[in-house]
Amino acid sequence: MTPIRTRFAPSPTGFLHVGGLRTALYAYLVAKKQGGTFILRIEDTDQNRLTPGAVENMIKTLQWAGIDFDEGPGKGGPYGPYIQSERLELYKKHAQQLVDAGHAYHCFCSPERLDRVRAQQVANKLPPAYDRHCRNLSPEEVAQKIQEQPEHVIRMKIPVAGDLTFNDLIRGPVTFGYKVLDDQVLMKSDGFPTYHLAVVVDDHYMQTSHVIRGEEWLSSTPKHLLLYQYFGWKAPLFAHLPLMLNPDRSKLSKRQGDVAAEDYWKKGYLPEALINFIAFLGWNPGDEREIFSLDELKQEFSLERVGKAGAIFNIEKLDWLNHYYIQHLPTQELLARLKPLLHEKGWTNKSEEFLLAAVNLFKERMTTLPDFVSAGSYFFDAPTEYDQTVWVKNWTPDTARHLLTLEKLFEQLKPFDAAQLEQTLRDYATQKNLKTSVLMSPLRLAITGVGKGPSVFHTMEVLGKEESCARIRTACARAAA
Ligand code: GLU
Repeated sequence: MTPIRTRFAPSPTGFLHVGGLRTALYAYLVAKKQGGTFILRIEDTDQNRLTPGAVENMIKTLQWAGIDFDEGPGKGGPYGPYIQSERLELYKKHAQQLVDAGHAYHCFCSPERLDRVRAQQVANKLPPAYDRHCRNLSPEEVAQKIQEQPEHVIRMKIPVAGDLTFNDLIRGPVTFGYKVLDDQVLMKSDGFPTYHLAVVVDDHYMQTSHVIRGEEWLSSTPKHLLLYQYFGWKAPLFAHLPLMLNPDRSKLSKRQGDVAAEDYWKKGYLPEALINFIAFLGWNPGDEREIFSLDELKQEFSLERVGKAGAIFNIEKLDWLNHYYIQHLPTQELLARLKPLLHEKGWTNKSEEFLLAAVNLFKERMTTLPDFVSAGSYFFDAPTEYDQTVWVKNWTPDTARHLLTLEKLFEQLKPFDAAQLEQTLRDYATQKNLKTSVLMSPLRLAITGVGKGPSVFHTMEVLGKEESCARIRTACARAAA
């Protein structure tokens, strides 16, 4: 059996798109399920579209997501270099080989001429394509033009008739007629190959067993398969992943939300949740299970269970998963992930014990990591403002008097814990013939500044006696002012 070797081959033109993350994940899973090798290859042949820092950024995001590559930039491997701009000689040699064998030709057409041809075709309602003007130049003409115009392109010869069928691992048999294919440029005038030549040469030499990529590359596959034939190489297997769609079934786009994987990182989604979510954008296990760790995915994932219908990117599902994973992280680990956010806020002077207790109490209410530092800010800063709607509704002329009496009772508690606090409040309410809620809402407001949150008694226990009592006094003073 041929060893399984898959690759993720992004172009470093910006951030890692969530679609790219899915491609990387699926390719990684196909390799890992069978003890194979996962390769990262940087496809930087379009020099005009490079973004500085993009490669480092992509690698960082893949690492964050837990997708480790076995061969690739910075890691090396037996078939490197893994950056296409470092492999130019190889592509040049293979382009020449195709020319020599009569499968490709030099093309000297100027951009102006190509524009004219295109405009004419559009005017005549024909599909725009190269008119093969240079395909039949005589060897003498070619030799002379090469002298005159060393900067020109090399195009592949597409058969004029017939068709090509291949078996896509997701779509089944797919047929393309040659007449819809253009004589694709293989080498550009800047000495760089196009994606089409480089991808085939690299997948061959890197011994890729499965090409797993987005549906947008499906129509390029017949060109690639022709190149494999021209070179006399065995082609890898192909799997084209379904499109990712917005809930309104339009193509996933920046207009409707974030499409950069790192945006989800920045927004406080856990890699476990994002990976679980992304895995289901096209794949399902065939039963009701929804929670899969990366290790479980490595066991269970298969391309046979990837559908060809577009996959809806449903952010509510991601939120649900993130909430789930947050609840299931040990508090210590959750705190470790929150630490960078706490540092950003300058909340660094609290004890580990305090932080663990606060996180433990608040975690149920967290959908994303920043929820803790936004909605739970009262663990760190005493409220300076009070939710006015809650105040108006719950703070009566008697409230301050009751709370100040309670505060005196709270001060005497030993230990100052949730059970004792609650008992004290209940006893006081009974004694004064009050409903507990009449006391509890203003108490919460005094302690947290807001109307909602985890148990107010537990919150007070975490904050401690001194801080809790001070907050009660402050709120009462504010009411009197
Ligand atoms: N460089 C292509 C991209 O940016 C890779 C396509 C492929 O995997 O063949 O998606």
